[in-house]
Amino acid sequence: MSEIIIAIDGYSSCGKSTLARALAAELNYRYIDSGAMYRAVTLFFLERGIRMDQKPEVESALDQIHIDFQHGPDGLITLLNGENVEEGIRSMAVAAKVSPVATIPEVRRALVRQQQALGRARQIVMDGRDIGTVVFPHAGLKIFLTASLEERVRRRSLQLLAKGMSVPDDEIRKNLLERDYIDSTRSDSPLMKAPDAVVLDNTNLTEEEQLLVAVTLALMRKRRSNLY
Ligand code: C5P
Repeated sequence: MSEIIIAIDGYSSCGKSTLARALAAELNYRYIDSGAMYRAVTLFFLERGIRMDQKPEVESALDQIHIDFQHGPDGLITLLNGENVEEGIRSMAVAAKVSPVATIPEVRRALVRQQQALGRARQIVMDGRDIGTVVFPHAGLKIFLTASLEERVRRRSLQLLAKGMSVPDDEIRKNLLERDYIDSTRSDSPLMKAPDAVVLDNTNLTEEEQLLVAVTLALMRKRRSNLY
């Protein structure tokens, strides 16, 4: 069967990475978390005090950033210039700044280029906000994932608790809504459903159920792409 690129997009904390990781494991594909790349750039900017509105400063910082992924015992590890930054990029400090950083066209251009290079091998599942619309407009399968706001808050809270961070629901809700707003209203590659994406609302689905739907879709698309 032919190999395809699978794009999973959607709002914050809809379970994109959970689905993308499981789907990649099931198909023996590589999982790429594009949000982690924007988070790594944000962490670098925060640590170095890079001023987002200063184009030359941003461009020179981007030249110094190399992002890579490694498979660890607990899943994918994001490496920023060779250093494991998994913990730092998941902090609320980074969550609060990542969406404004992701509106900067120079940042998007640099990361989209890297993401497209990673996709040359096909056999990848990439999740994000603009994967089916901008990064891989010809992806073999595009899924647009949604879930109710309260379910997203609940999942995010559990995720943070698992990492030892207890954050009030109100703060989580505010951050999700803020990021959704900035992501879907920015002028450069805003978050939107690709016209040919399959919408999957997982509010009332278990992880196993949504995986089954996605695997079925992927196998059908792989079979279809073999026919042409
Ligand atoms: O997926 P995650 O929530 O980790 O992404 C963090 C942020 O990175 C998003 O809120 C969004 O602002 C930005 N992002 C983006 N384009 C992508 C992936 C993430 O703008 N493809």
